[in-house]
Amino acid sequence: MPKFPAMTMGRQDDELESLELLRTPYTATWTSLGEVPKNHPLVTVMSLVAAQFIVFIAAQAPHLISSGVLFFRFAAIVASTHLAIAFAQSLHFGATEPGFLPTGEELKTLMAKCDASKDQSCATGDELRALDAARSVYEEAFQHTCLAEAMDDGYYVKQAILPPPTVELEGLKWCTTCLIWRPPRCSHCSTCGRCVLEFDHHCHMLGRCIGRRNHQTFLLITWSAGINSFLIAFVSCYQLFTWYSSVGVPDLKGVPGSSLHRWGLMAFAVICASGCLYFANPRALGCGCTRRGYRQILFCIGVLAAAMLIGLLIHLRMSGRMEWYILGVTFSCVLSGATCPFIMCSALEQLENACRGSTVKRVAVDQRSGVRKPPISLTNVWSFLFSERPPSLFSS
Ligand SMILES: [Zn+2]
Ligand SMILES: [Zn+2]
Repeated sequence: MPKFPAMTMGRQDDELESLELLRTPYTATWTSLGEVPKNHPLVTVMSLVAAQFIVFIAAQAPHLISSGVLFFRFAAIVASTHLAIAFAQSLHFGATEPGFLPTGEELKTLMAKCDASKDQSCATGDELRALDAARSVYEEAFQHTCLAEAMDDGYYVKQAILPPPTVELEGLKWCTTCLIWRPPRCSHCSTCGRCVLEFDHHCHMLGRCIGRRNHQTFLLITWSAGINSFLIAFVSCYQLFTWYSSVGVPDLKGVPGSSLHRWGLMAFAVICASGCLYFANPRALGCGCTRRGYRQILFCIGVLAAAMLIGLLIHLRMSGRMEWYILGVTFSCVLSGATCPFIMCSALEQLENACRGSTVKRVAVDQRSGVRKPPISLTNVWSFLFSERPPSLFSS
């Protein structure tokens, strides 16, 4: 059997099956996004943003605009614009691959396939593009190492999969899971099971890795979500307070549902206060960054929202004052008030890192090794926001 039977073959998948070298799980659809880690879809986050948008536009914004107060008009316009931006950016974020790197085995397969296609096309256009992208990534990554001058086009990619001590690359780390040399600032994500270019962190709330290809979008999402949740929380608290003042709180006593609603409000105040404490203590950030932490936060917000809404609904029906407006305000108050400190904390952290040209991962590594934070510079922000994203090694 010839070493590369693909040289005499067409591109049909069944023919490729007989090629021993290409028998890996990634052979058939190398460049499809389906082969990168299956992150959970953004359904929860997107539905909450959409629900918040509908409630805000339908129930709250008309009251704010007709209030005649300039700040409330401004808040209504800014909050709804930022909600729309957050929704659009989340859609974009969901469709962008963070910058995953293929494993050593996959790179080997890809190179063999593309080599074989020099004589007979057996690699698809996407696969040739993926190899080109890998070449440019490794060329950039290894240009400061002690590697010799490139011998051919694929030289650096070939070096990237040679394990130590065959190759020793100064300052770079060998990934023992993916079996590749990691480019600088590339880290392995244990949740996704792949190395990610300029790895920042794995966001359990959005269910994805943050890396070089989606970092700018992530910063925009955190800021637009942070601004709208802050403004909506502020105006919702005001609207809730004004409504209570107008109906007169003493009248509510003894009406079924009102105590549940009051307890809900109190618990809401507690979670907002703990959110503020969390906001004030950056070291506590780590505790919310696990999948379990986020689930607990979402669970608390869900229970609170349900308690407040059910209590208020019963109360309004029994007291004969059925007002959908105040139900909407309560929903916004819980959702925005409880999430605002966490989102703002993340937004500020992301902005600080962008100013320092750093990442969450790098800050943690520097802290462990006692290295001082790099200085803040506007040039860093500029290059962070406007640097070109490298092509994906996975999507076409
Ligand atoms: Zn890895
Ligand atoms: Zn990840």
